[in-house]
Amino acid sequence: MNIHEYQAKKLLNSFNVATGYGEPAETAEEAVTIAKELSQEFDTKTWVVKAQIHAGGRGKAGGVKLCKSLDEISSYASSLLGSTLVTQQTGPKGQVVRKIYVECASNIASEFYISLVLNRNTQQVCIIASAEGGTDIEEVAEKNPDKIVNLGICSVSGIQGYHSRRVAATLGILDKTKEILHLLQCLYETYLDCDCSLIEINPLVLTKEGSLLALDAKISFDDNALYRHKAIEALNDRFEEDAAETEAKKYDLSYVKLEGNIGCLVNGAGLAMATMDIIQHYGGSPANFLDVGGNANKEQVSKAFQIILKDENVKAILVNIFGGIMRCDIIAHGIIAAASEMQLKVPLIVRLQGTNKDLGKQILNESGLNIIAADGLDEAAKKAVAALKD
Ligand code: GDP
Ligand code: MG
Repeated sequence: MNIHEYQAKKLLNSFNVATGYGEPAETAEEAVTIAKELSQEFDTKTWVVKAQIHAGGRGKAGGVKLCKSLDEISSYASSLLGSTLVTQQTGPKGQVVRKIYVECASNIASEFYISLVLNRNTQQVCIIASAEGGTDIEEVAEKNPDKIVNLGICSVSGIQGYHSRRVAATLGILDKTKEILHLLQCLYETYLDCDCSLIEINPLVLTKEGSLLALDAKISFDDNALYRHKAIEALNDRFEEDAAETEAKKYDLSYVKLEGNIGCLVNGAGLAMATMDIIQHYGGSPANFLDVGGNANKEQVSKAFQIILKDENVKAILVNIFGGIMRCDIIAHGIIAAASEMQLKVPLIVRLQGTNKDLGKQILNESGLNIIAADGLDEAAKKAVAALKD
């Protein structure tokens, strides 16, 4: 799960990481009120207004603006709110701006990059830092990899003095080694306490007044640990997610929408991947990844089927189930339940194998649904691709 910049900054503040002062707004009037309050409290006459979407690259796309008057805030906020921002990270469709963030502007002397992320190879959280902040870190990694340091954190000893010395040296601010140590400790505590999978501060800035501030913040959390963090879970912004994916999550289904036209209902992530591959092998293209899991019940199967059917791009559905713990008759009942609620207008190709497969097939045959049966994965994929042409 991801959260907005303003939420990430509040969370970081609670772990003693310094950021600028600001508040989110949903209307231009609100933005102006916040700016007035900020200027009274912090004696500022310049503000930064930033689009709150779950994607970076806002600066380059026109989603971040330094404003020098309340009128400027008002007109910029009005034009930004409700608009669709297309950044390098949103994809061509872009993302609608529903919230903005108003912050006291900082006097930037230098911009750096720093993040904590899980390194699966070394099984450690690692620190990634670069003096080339504010810009595309992917581009720096590609063109100037020597400008990035990557330091593992031992899970027993945690953040040590050598981490801060290496980072401060990389950023060219050795005189700030103590501050960097404090920052790393606070970020690492946030990372562990909140079960993060990524904390990215880009840019971390050194202000002209000499303090280190997180000017931007991106935090991702491990979904599997969210049950331990109800307050963080509540930060989820459903507008930032695909509606079908949110719906699927409610029913414990792993669903990812894709661009193709063959809907897939599969049990097991590996089988789901193999199904997508073989569809592509025969010239088709999957409309989704959908794993109903090993012990799904009739309701979950039925929901999964409904989610696939709601996708207008879907022109055929391929059900590929290997009945282990999951019984094929349960799948059959789920399909029938969903198909009776929603009209099934597209061809349905079903491959059932394993526990109670004959019973499953019998149930489907007697249902009156127009089903194309297949025995093997190969045959099923071929039939699904062929069904598109009929
Ligand atoms: P992103 O483009 O989505 O990553 O948005 P950021 O929050 O990183 O902002 C992009 C750029 O806007 C930063 O790299 C800064 O150069 C600039 N910026 C953001 N906040 C301030 C600020 O308070 N003062 C100044 N002068 N520039 C800012
Ligand atoms: Mg940024």
